Amino acid sequence: MAGKAGKPENRHVTEKIGVVGAGIVGLAVARELAAARGAEVTVLEKEGRVGAHQTGHNSGVVHAGIYYPPGSLKARLCREGVALLKEYCAAHDLPYHEVGKLVVASTHAERPLLNALAERARANGVPGIAELDALALREVEPHAVGVGAVHSPHTAICDFPAVAARLAQDVAELGGSVRTGHPVRAIRERSGKVEVLAGRRRFAFDRLVVCAGLGTDAVAGMTGAAGDVRIVPFRGEFYALRGAARDLVRGLIYPVPDPRYPFLGVHLTRQIGGGVLVGPNAVLALAYEGYKRRNFRNFRQILGWPGTLRMARAHWRTGLKEVYGSLAKSAFLKGARRYVPELTAADLERAPGGVRAQAVARDGRLVDDFVVDVHGQVVLVRNAPSPAATSSLAIARHIAGIVPALVR
Ligand SMILES: Cc1cc2nc3c(=O)[nH]c(=O)nc-3n(C[C@H](O)[C@H](O)[C@H](O)COP(=O)(O)OP(=O)(O)OC[C@H]3O[C@@H](n4cnc5c(N)ncnc54)[C@H](O)[C@@H]3O)c2cc1C
Repeated sequence: MAGKAGKPENRHVTEKIGVVGAGIVGLAVARELAAARGAEVTVLEKEGRVGAHQTGHNSGVVHAGIYYPPGSLKARLCREGVALLKEYCAAHDLPYHEVGKLVVASTHAERPLLNALAERARANGVPGIAELDALALREVEPHAVGVGAVHSPHTAICDFPAVAARLAQDVAELGGSVRTGHPVRAIRERSGKVEVLAGRRRFAFDRLVVCAGLGTDAVAGMTGAAGDVRIVPFRGEFYALRGAARDLVRGLIYPVPDPRYPFLGVHLTRQIGGGVLVGPNAVLALAYEGYKRRNFRNFRQILGWPGTLRMARAHWRTGLKEVYGSLAKSAFLKGARRYVPELTAADLERAPGGVRAQAVARDGRLVDDFVVDVHGQVVLVRNAPSPAATSSLAIARHIAGIVPALVR
């Protein structure tokens, strides 16, 4: 509408923004857009509850920012995310415990990698980083062994599903809605609007943000922005420590990661509820929601992406080792005993696992950093693997800055 001087009237218009996916990233994005931009947000989730996939099946570690290349989005958003998450948990009375992490070198050959990790952590501004020798690391974790360790005393654990549930409540309190049981089936952009068919309902939004985790490629395909990376699912299997064996671990005990991979290696992780997890490994899955070994539901899409075969060719030895570790409990135990030798087979019982949504490029490269793309009115989160749960509130701010502003 024109004003007196013929210029558009500067009246307030409420933007309607849709968000696909009620994982921790989608919910954090929805909350941020509602709170900071005053948008009317609608979150569309295919499952019957929030946090049903990666958000509800992870290690529960609030990563401090040790591993990520300085200057990367992961490095920046992880550090910012930790601060925001700590504050958020305190404000909403959600559990957050700084149990501390040891990254342990078990051979002298790993020393240079460990030293490089300590340097990287300092460059990323991780507080309290200390390099410990074989004796000093036992003061932190009395049952752990190694030739040295990096100690991150402020690495924490939290309950990501509880955070996601609270974010959903915030969205509702800010006037938005979280619609579970609404699988997004079709998307089209028309006359400046994004029309979405979800379940049996049609929605029209000014903007759409896709945070669909393992479902990213399917939703990206609906927007006509297939992109040049694809999600390859990696199953992460866990064991849990039984009974008194839990007392062998105080906080978090991690191996020195193989720098060729974005995965951190099988670790021992204390949980908010008092348990201790061992895992996860990283096994290529042939179904996006391939929680079970024999699920091959999406093998055509996954193996049809040239990057998958190129990646498999380059890393087949590691891949076979991971498959062996998946089938043989003894291999899992061996990995854990490298750091806590008192553990026995009787101390380990199977625990539910998760599936990571990891982007792989056409040339077979595992995409390390977070990736967010803009395609018309649609913002697509293409890669949000670990530490995206830790970083979720910072990712949300980052995305809110990217979602194109509404000009009327
Ligand atoms: C085994 C494992 C361990 C991990 N450990 C850690 C850790 O310790 N610390 C950490 O920070 N991170 C960790 N991560 C990573 C972390 O869990 C993820 O990075 C984070 O949860 C990603 O959140 P998200 O919202 O993007 O994805 P998700 O939680 O997977 O949410 C995506 C949502 O989109 C929905 N969806 C998909 N398609 C559609 C559709 N068509 N219509 C509607 N909805 C749709 C899905 O149902 C799902 O609910 C781990 C991950 C795994 C698997």
